[in-house]
Amino acid sequence: MRARTVVNACGVWAGTIDRSVRLRPSKGAHVVVDARALLEPRAALITPVLGESARWVGATPTGDGRVIVGVTDDAFDGPIDDEPAVGAAEEDFLLDTLSLALQRSLTGADVLGRYAGFRPLLDTGGGSTADLSRSHSILESPDGTLLTVVGGKLTTYRRMAQDAVDRVVARHGGPRSGTASQPLIGACARGATTGVPARLVRRYGSEAEAVAGLAVHDRALLEPVFAGSPVLGVELLFGILHEGAMDIDDLLDRRVRLGVVPAERRRAEALATDLFGGLAA
Ligand SMILES: Cc1cc2nc3c(=O)[nH]c(=O)nc-3n(C[C@H](O)[C@H](O)[C@H](O)COP(=O)(O)OP(=O)(O)OC[C@H]3O[C@@H](n4cnc5c(N)ncnc54)[C@H](O)[C@@H]3O)c2cc1C
Repeated sequence: MRARTVVNACGVWAGTIDRSVRLRPSKGAHVVVDARALLEPRAALITPVLGESARWVGATPTGDGRVIVGVTDDAFDGPIDDEPAVGAAEEDFLLDTLSLALQRSLTGADVLGRYAGFRPLLDTGGGSTADLSRSHSILESPDGTLLTVVGGKLTTYRRMAQDAVDRVVARHGGPRSGTASQPLIGACARGATTGVPARLVRRYGSEAEAVAGLAVHDRALLEPVFAGSPVLGVELLFGILHEGAMDIDDLLDRRVRLGVVPAERRRAEALATDLFGGLAA
């Protein structure tokens, strides 16, 4: 039995931990558009990129007044930035491509926010990054101490975790991963959720009542974090108390994701600061 195994799940940075891991990162750039600019769509609109195969721009309604326009897949061989930005050319490309399918062309004035990142695709030889597999792999480092799990998708994260745990268990013993039989938090039916805001039921499922219950001492937390925001005050409190948000960035950018629209983020900062301050007091 080996002394120790470290699991390297560092995504596009996996090669900095195990130099034998070969990745071909691709950059994804998304812009956030006010749904009214697209006449409030209720389904995704996918527009193929002219002259290319397996490449398209998608417009996906989030259900709260926003549409995410993105799914570019550009091979990227520069240094991997911790916080990549959406370039002007990328934004124009997204808007121009989508506009081919619209009555009115979208412009930069319709864009409320932007975000970008890198997909950790495994280098499996030739072809464009769009042709590379999105299946994950578990790779062993040359000295056997590291297992790298890389190459998957957000939608396959449970399978990635299961395979990584089972590989470690195969080396060191212990129970195999129980992920496949564990319902997601919020997925268990726990009876009626009457009187709970519909948004909370949609976002938190069977946890919705518990989230709404955080407003027991301050009913104002059931109101939007600012006028017109889809996000309710209790969602911020839940993010701090039960989703491990460490600071305001963590809360606004990663839990409730208001940070994708900078102007809205600024309007939510005061409440977020108050909630953190109140809990620390
Ligand atoms: C713009 C964009 C849109 C996407 N949309 C979708 C989608 O709609 N559906 C889908 O299925 N997939 C989507 N993807 C792909 C998906 O995001 C990735 O495939 C997925 O996040 C990979 O998961 P991962 O756990 O391997 O890596 P990551 O999610 O990148 O996680 C790696 C983590 O390791 C941390 N880390 C790095 N180095 C270190 C270190 N030295 N020590 C400690 N921690 C470290 C990083 O901070 C990061 O949190 C999208 C990707 C992008 C860029």
